[in-house]
Amino acid sequence: MNKAKAYSAASSTSPLSLDTIPRRDNTERDVQIEILYCGICHSDLHTVRNEWSSIMPTTYPCVPGHEIVGRVTKVGSAVTNFKPGELVGVGCMVDSDQSCPHCQADLEQFCPNSTFTYNSPDKHLGGITYGGYSENIVVDEKFVLRVPENLDLAGVAPLLCAGITTYSPIRRWGDIKGKKVGVVGLGGLGHMGVKFARAFGAHVVVFTTSPNKKEDAVRLGAHEVIISTNPEDMQKHAGSFDFILDTISAEHDINAYINMLGLEGNITLVGAPEKPLAVSAFALIFGRKSVSGSLIGGIKETQEMLDFCGEHNITADVEVIPIQKVNEAYERLVKSDVKYRFSIDMDSLKFE
Ligand code: NAP
Ligand code: ZN
Repeated sequence: MNKAKAYSAASSTSPLSLDTIPRRDNTERDVQIEILYCGICHSDLHTVRNEWSSIMPTTYPCVPGHEIVGRVTKVGSAVTNFKPGELVGVGCMVDSDQSCPHCQADLEQFCPNSTFTYNSPDKHLGGITYGGYSENIVVDEKFVLRVPENLDLAGVAPLLCAGITTYSPIRRWGDIKGKKVGVVGLGGLGHMGVKFARAFGAHVVVFTTSPNKKEDAVRLGAHEVIISTNPEDMQKHAGSFDFILDTISAEHDINAYINMLGLEGNITLVGAPEKPLAVSAFALIFGRKSVSGSLIGGIKETQEMLDFCGEHNITADVEVIPIQKVNEAYERLVKSDVKYRFSIDMDSLKFE
């Protein structure tokens, strides 16, 4: 067993601070990775603060981080796809049973025995898994992704969660070329949703509560921006959308967005607020509309997304911070003050 420096939270009300965590010795199937950048996902904050306690209670100490980019330092004897020195990524999952129907359909995220990158039972060391706010990580090669060499690494890290979480439902919807697509909430997920929807040829409309993000929304690829707190602006677009991706992290009125959908339109929730949302049956019935959800994406699709980003030069817009600023970053995340993802430069951990 090895020891690694990491930032952990000791309880739901503690700040993140320097800690030492165990990492397993490489098994023959493992890839050991020196972490270069790790994105800060709002799920990290939900987990650290135990906001999902009724569904996924947090075990402490908690080391979050599932948007990991790094360099391979060592591979096990049975590893065939990776070599030391290569650039790789790790997202929200580090293991699954590889035998259930979901794994066989490349949908490991729905495997009943999947292991998430943090706050999940650790099959190797016992206890729970520790994520990417750390100097290194050891991962089964099946869950290691290839990172295109031509992209900025700090901006690649968020693709491992925010990227795949928005890419997957957009692809699943079908051919969105020429369709009117809404992206609700311009944060980490939302800004990636805008980039992908635009890249696939949709007419992209951003719904935001932050008027100061209007110009950025257009720069990121939106054709139109609606300030969702302005009822007149909302009314103008009622009944006109084919598909809406809802990335909001907090309680909100989903019916306002269902009312934006046209006949048989769909709103897919990727945002995961702490409390249930009230859905009006009438809003759905009149127009045969649907509400659905989507969870990250499988490993094969994540690789496809990374390759797509490499070909089209797509990365997240990031604010690079040292790990010492992580608690400040969390406070800003709560206030929707992020442009548009924090990416931790893990070099900063060396100075601790
Ligand atoms: P984020 O960067 O904080 O962005 C969330 C955005 O939602 C904010 O920037 C803000 O956008 C909007 N928002 C926040 N509070 C709001 C409120 N009270 N009312 C209306 N709008 C509000 O968060 P993120 O990292 O993108 O994550 C978003 C959500 O997705 C989180 O709940 C996270 O846990 C979840 N998530 C789900 C998956 C999945 O697989 N389904 C994967 C990753 C994350 P504006 O300023 O534009 O209004
Ligand atoms: Zn995430």
